[in-house]
This record gives sequence, structure tokens and C-alpha cells, in this order.
Amino acid sequence: MSRIKILNKIADLIEENLDELAKLESEDQGKPLLVSKSVDIPRSVLNFRHFANCLSYQSDHSIVDHEAGIINYVTRHPVGVVGIITPWNLPLYLLTFKLAPAIAFGNTVVAKPSELTSMTAFRLCQILNDAGLPKGVINMVFGYGSKVGEAIVKHPSIKLISFTGSTITGQKIAQQAAPLFKRLSLEMGGKNAAIVFDDVNLEKELIHIARSAYFNSGQICLASSRILVHESIYSEFVEKFIKISREFIIGDPFDKETKLGPLVSAQHRDKVLRYINLARNTDKVKMTYLEPNYLNKNGYFCGIAIVSDIEIDSPLMMEEIFGPVVCIVQFKDEQEAIEIANNTNYGLSATVWTQSLDRMHRVSHQIEAGTVWGNCWLVRNLNMPFGGIKQSGIGHESTEDSREFYTNKKTICIKI
Ligand code: NAD
Repeated sequence: MSRIKILNKIADLIEENLDELAKLESEDQGKPLLVSKSVDIPRSVLNFRHFANCLSYQSDHSIVDHEAGIINYVTRHPVGVVGIITPWNLPLYLLTFKLAPAIAFGNTVVAKPSELTSMTAFRLCQILNDAGLPKGVINMVFGYGSKVGEAIVKHPSIKLISFTGSTITGQKIAQQAAPLFKRLSLEMGGKNAAIVFDDVNLEKELIHIARSAYFNSGQICLASSRILVHESIYSEFVEKFIKISREFIIGDPFDKETKLGPLVSAQHRDKVLRYINLARNTDKVKMTYLEPNYLNKNGYFCGIAIVSDIEIDSPLMMEEIFGPVVCIVQFKDEQEAIEIANNTNYGLSATVWTQSLDRMHRVSHQIEAGTVWGNCWLVRNLNMPFGGIKQSGIGHESTEDSREFYTNKKTICIKI
């Protein structure tokens, strides 16, 4: 069977088993079932379909040098065995976002999902077999990062590492991979700003800004964890934001009304609560904490914290919390908004909310981030480069970027 057929078959089988996979994802990670069904699993299907389709449309550079009587062209070759290491927040989606291009471009893979959320990866193995993927092409290994992850990173036969996870783990991987000259793609943490100008259509956009903060209980690298608001609408914004936050019902992931499920683990919930306590105990900082209206001993539930009037270099503004904690600060003009947005070691994404197209372009060009969304969030076209700058990442993923990453190029130069 051709690679295109196998990739499409994998997509078909994920789609056929969508309900089961969505249930596993929600049980494992805690996200609302509606999110698993409408985002995580459909996007996993798309990953395989997309890279199946793009195999038919590859093109490369060639030069016919008539003076020298030479034709130059490029061939692409798989890198070999590649290592893939993924986090717990979007388990199947992020895993398949790497697996699909890796095998589309002819590599074999040793992949490790997060030890916290391995269920859909385990189920995927059966799907890969059923789709007719030859044995040994994808080798899923399960276990802790410090053992299994490190073994992948240090193995001399694994030529390339594609990693998504925290910046601290990314640093370790970069250190361990450097002596072996491995090719690296590191997609890491974020502390993303949403910049809200005074001409924003608040009635229309407030819900989208709130969604960008609370999606997956804030456990997404692209979450808007810092909201910068023009001083003329600051008080109104904070008041309305608190009000709309009450609509984000924290509950049982399997209840249709639930917008926020529990956090992934006790350890992670305790980390988020430490930041909430820091806000509570910091002078002059205002915090509204919306207690979870649902508790269950089987889930690590955490409320929503809306923090305002906070210093821009507070740890709450600088460090990735990865939970339902939003800091709202004010700015006086465009320049100050850009300075605050860039006042972080991270550079993953940002959103800009304004009705002025001029300002949208001007501000977007000055923000230090891999992606800037204007009046929208989380809209992804797999043909467009995705990746962070600063401590958010090295490398990009997209049709072309992934082809570049998962293949070696060779120039063939022949006398005509
Ligand atoms: P993590 O760094 O703790 O773990 C990620 C993966 O790395 C896991 O599979 C883990 O087992 C493995 N790992 C841990 N130590 C390792 C080591 N020494 N060597 C090799 N592998 C090791 O991250 P996490 O807590 O699972 O995920 C949350 C983080 O992921 C957040 O920082 C978030 O911003 C980031 N993230 C980034 C993106 C992005 O696209 N930039 C997307 C999703 C999540």
C-alpha cells in the first residue's frame, strides 16, 4: 500500500473511532468531552489527511545552467529514525501532528507520549496496525521522561528529536542532543498577551478573549494568560471579564454544560494554586477567585482566578502558570502595549483586538511571537508555519517546514 493510502486509512480509522478516542482523551486528560470530540480528535484526523494530501504536491528547486551545460536538481531523503516526545495537554493532536509528517516523508519513529496521558497513544497503536502500517515504522514507547525520554534523546541512532513540552525540559534535551549534532524542533512554553484596544467591539469579542484564556482550563501553550487593556476601558473590561468568566462552568468533563474540566494532576493543580495564593497575598493586587461549583474526588478541580492591578514584572505576569489564571493590566498607548507584550522570555503567540486595520498590522509586526492572531484565536492552517521564538521554541512545523525538518536534501549536479 502506498504511503498516501496508509495515511488516509489511519485518518479514516481515527474518524471511525472518534467517540471512543474522545472519551479516552477526556477521561485521561480531564478536558470536556465536547472539546475532545470537536477539536482534539478531528484535528488528529486532519493531521494525517493533510500530510497524505501534501505528498502529491511537493516541488523542489532545479536549475539548468546552460553556460556550464549542467543541470542541478534536489532530491529528498528520509532522515532515518526520528524521536518524538509529546506533552499531556493535547495528547493525540500533538502526537499525530508530528507522527503524520514524520512517516509521510519516509522516516521511522520512536515516539513517547506523556506518562500522564498515554491512553489515546496506546489505542492509536492498534489503529496503525489495522491501517496496514508496516511493523516497526512507528514504535510507541511508554514511560517517564527522565528514563524513556532521555533514552530517546541520547540514542545515537536517533538522528532527530521533535519535542513539545516545557521550556525546562526543552533546555535539557538541547544540552543532551548537542554533542550528537541532532536536528531539533522544540515547541515549548508560552506567556501570551492579548492586547485589547479602546476601539475593540467588546460586545462581540469578549467571549472570544475569555475563551482564549480558559480553553482546556488554561492548559494550552497558546492561552492568553496576560490581557493588556487600554486605560480608557480598563475598569469596564475587568468588570465585564469577571462577569463573563462566571459563564465558564467548571464541572464533570462528561457534562454537556461543562466548559472547564479538572486540571491534569494533583501536582499540577498544586502548582497553579501556589500562583493563586501568591496573587492573594500580594499587596495592592486585586483578585477575583471563582470557586469551582463542582468537586469530585476523582478530579483535580481548580477555580478561575482573575488578577488585576498587578506589576508587569510579577512572577504571575512573567512565568507560565498553565491554568485558569488570567492577569489583566492596563496600558496608555500602542508603544506601551507592545513593550508589556514583549516583556517576557517567551515568544509563542499573541492576540490583538481592535477595529483598526492599520493598528492591527502595525502592532502585529512589532510583537515578538511566532503567531499573532487579530480578532480571532486558535485558527490554524497547517500550511502556515507554527513555532515560537525566544524561550518558546526552535524550529517551525507546517507542510513546508515539516518537510524541511523530516528530510535531508541532496543536490544532484549532472553534465548535460
Ligand atoms: P514536560 O516538559 O514536563 O513533558 C513533555 C514530555 O517530555 C513528556 O512526554 C515527558 O515525559 C518528557 N520528558 C520529561 N523530561 C524529559 C527528559 N529529561 N528528556 C526527554 N523527555 C522528557 O511538559 P508537560 O508538562 O507535559 O507539558 C506542558 C508544557 O508543554 C507547557 O510548558 C506548554 O506550554 C508546553 N506546550 C507547548 C506547545 C507548543 O506548541 N509550543 C504545545 C503544547 C504544550
